[in-house]
Amino acid sequence: MHGKLELISPSMSTLGLDVFPSPIDTDVFGTFTGDVARRASPFETALAKAREGMRAASTTLGLASEGSIGVQGFLPIVADVETVIFVDDDEGFVLAETAVSHHIVTHSWTLSQGLPLEADLERAGFPNHGLIVRSDRKAVDITKGIHDHKELNRVIEHCWEMGATQVTVESDLRAHHCPSRRPTIAEAARKLANRLLNSCPSCDCPGWGLVDIVRGRECAQCALPTQAKLADVFGCSRCSARETGALNTEPADPSTCERCNP
Ligand SMILES: [Zn+2]
Ligand SMILES: [Zn+2]
Repeated sequence: MHGKLELISPSMSTLGLDVFPSPIDTDVFGTFTGDVARRASPFETALAKAREGMRAASTTLGLASEGSIGVQGFLPIVADVETVIFVDDDEGFVLAETAVSHHIVTHSWTLSQGLPLEADLERAGFPNHGLIVRSDRKAVDITKGIHDHKELNRVIEHCWEMGATQVTVESDLRAHHCPSRRPTIAEAARKLANRLLNSCPSCDCPGWGLVDIVRGRECAQCALPTQAKLADVFGCSRCSARETGALNTEPADPSTCERCNP
């Protein structure tokens, strides 16, 4: 429904996998506009989508993706976290990869009269990026996927005619209306495909890769263990096999030390 096939299938076809869409409506798993609230984590949501698609298509392999878009931490920068999941019931494993981007174009603003300013439309990446219009009067339906100036103005005028006192205009974050999300979805799919090429040294299951990190590099100033990364931990997507990568023994910056920089 959201044009993700062309983003995901090129990476998967390098593995010899033929990806085709499953006829399900994934909006029931939650939407960005909040008309269907998403209750589970992105991983769980992606997994539920893949499972539903596998049921509908009667396959033992499934793929799905899920985006999580919002402000992370204290900085007012919007992060786009894209998860792509692969379910393999023949081999018996589930593997997900994520890609993060801060280049997503999003904007949301309210009007109390008239039509949007060109500056706001530019910030929203319109008309390349789609917009959503909602009135504070519940009688008027939300309009999504607007890419045309004339349609945008018509929808907003209609809100005023129906007695709105405030109209909210915001980015339509669905993948087929948000081109700045699309490279990140493709990147997550690429990471997933690359990881599927690596097999577990213990059980030969595909999907061997980074599963954790070990912190605790010594502080350059006081030599106590810090929060800085000491090593990567690689693991299997099916069995409990784990391997710690090369240790980074370089002294850590005192800014990562709880004693020197509490
Ligand atoms: Zn220290
Ligand atoms: Zn294994």
